[in-house]
Amino acid sequence: MTENEAWLTRSKQAVWHPCTQMKRHETLPLVPIARGEGPWLFDFDGNRYLDAVSSWWVNLFGHCNPRINEAIKSQLDTLEHVILAGFTQQPVVELSERLAKLTGLGHAFYGSDGASATEIALKMSFHYWRNVGLSGKVGFVSLQNSYHGETLGALSVTDVALFRDTYAPLLRQSHQVRSPDWRLAEPGESKEAYAERCASELADYLAAHHHTTAALILEPLVQGAAGMGMYHPIYLQRARALCDQYNVHLIADEIAVGFGRTGTMFAHEQAAIKPDFICLSKGITGGYLPLSVVLTTDTVYQAFYHDEVTRGFLHSHSYTGNALACRAALAVLDIFEEEDVIASNRIRAAWFTALMEPIRRHSKVTHFRQLGMIWAMDVLTDQPDFANRCFQQALQQGVLLRPIGKSLYFMPPYVVDGEAVSLFVSTVLSILDQV
Ligand SMILES: *Cc1c(COP(=O)(O)O)cnc(C)c1O
Repeated sequence: MTENEAWLTRSKQAVWHPCTQMKRHETLPLVPIARGEGPWLFDFDGNRYLDAVSSWWVNLFGHCNPRINEAIKSQLDTLEHVILAGFTQQPVVELSERLAKLTGLGHAFYGSDGASATEIALKMSFHYWRNVGLSGKVGFVSLQNSYHGETLGALSVTDVALFRDTYAPLLRQSHQVRSPDWRLAEPGESKEAYAERCASELADYLAAHHHTTAALILEPLVQGAAGMGMYHPIYLQRARALCDQYNVHLIADEIAVGFGRTGTMFAHEQAAIKPDFICLSKGITGGYLPLSVVLTTDTVYQAFYHDEVTRGFLHSHSYTGNALACRAALAVLDIFEEEDVIASNRIRAAWFTALMEPIRRHSKVTHFRQLGMIWAMDVLTDQPDFANRCFQQALQQGVLLRPIGKSLYFMPPYVVDGEAVSLFVSTVLSILDQV
C-alpha cells in the first residue's frame, strides 16, 4: 500500500466528506494532499495537481504563501484568539477600518464562514425593519439558481434543487425572481436587454410585495454555484434603484466574487452602487482560515443602538473576529495594495483569455465567458456523468477541475502563470475531444 492509499483508506473510515455521496468513493478515489505550493498541490506519491478551483474558491495568492504564513506566525506568538463580546484586539480593529475604507460601509460584524454571514445579514435586515416599526417586513427575495450557503436560513434563499429539495420542509418560504444570467436570454436578445427584462420582473414583484419584503439578496455579477452564470451590471443598478424605491434592503453576497475575483476589488463596484449589506468570506483570508464578515451602513447600525438590550443584535459565534484569521486578512489586503494586484490581474487575465482561444472556438463549447479571474464555458455533451468523468480525466493530467453539471470553469489562485494556464487549456482540449 502506498502512502496515498493508506491515507485515503483511513480518511474514508473516519472522515465524512462534504457535498459527497460517500459510497461513490468505492470507485472514485479520494486524493490525499501532502503539501501545497503556489497554485500547486502535491500528493504523497509526489504527483502534482494544478488547483484550478482555488480549493473551492478560497485561495487567492497560492498555497503556503510566504507573506501570509509570516503574518500568521507572528500573530501566533502574540494573541491567537480572545472573546470579542466585551473585548477587542488589534487585528479585528485594523481589518474593520480597512474594509470600511474599501467599501464605504463602516460597521463590521464577524462570523466564521460564508453561510454564517448570510444568516447574519438576513437576521440583521429583518431586525432593522422591526426596530424601525416595520415588523411586517419578514420576507426575502433571491435570484433563481442563486447560492447563499447551506445552513437552514441561507438554504432558504438558495435555489439549487440538489442542495435544497431534501430539506424543503425545514426551510422558510422565500421568493425567487428570474435570474439575469445571460445564458438564459432569448436568441438575439442582448445581455443588457435581458438584464433589463429581468429587472422589470423584479419591479413587478416588489411593487406587489414590498410591504412584506425585508431584503433582496444576490451574488453580484456571477452566480457561482449556478455554474459561473454571469450577468450585465445594469441589473445591479436597476435592483439598487428598486430597493430604494420600495424600502427593501439590498444584500450583496460577495462571498465568492469579492477580493478581486471579478476584476474589481468587489463585484458591485462595476455597477457603481452601494449595497446596504455586503457579505464577505472565502478569499478574505487568502484561503487560510475560516472568517466571514457582514458590512453595513450607519443607518442600519443606528437602528440597533439603544438603551434596550433586545434592540441590539444578539447574535454570536464562538470564533467571531478570530485574531489569527483577521491577521491573515490584513496580510491579504497588504498584498493587494503593495503588488497592485487588481491592475496586474487585468493584464494577465487578457493574456490568459488569449491562451484559451482554442477552447472558446471548440465545437463542443458554448457560452464561453470570462470576468476578471473567472473563465467558464458550457460543454455540449450527452454524457450523464460528465462532471465526474471530467474530474477524473483532468486529475490524471494533473489538474483539479470540478465541473458544475456541464459547466466547466477555471477559477485559479491569482499566482498562476502561463505554464499553468497552458496545462489547463491542453487538459480541457483533450477532455472536449472525448465528449
Ligand atoms: C460559498 C458561498 C457561500 C457559503 O460559504 P460557506 O463558507 O461555504 O458557508 C455563500 N454564498 C456564496 C455566493 C458562496 O459562493
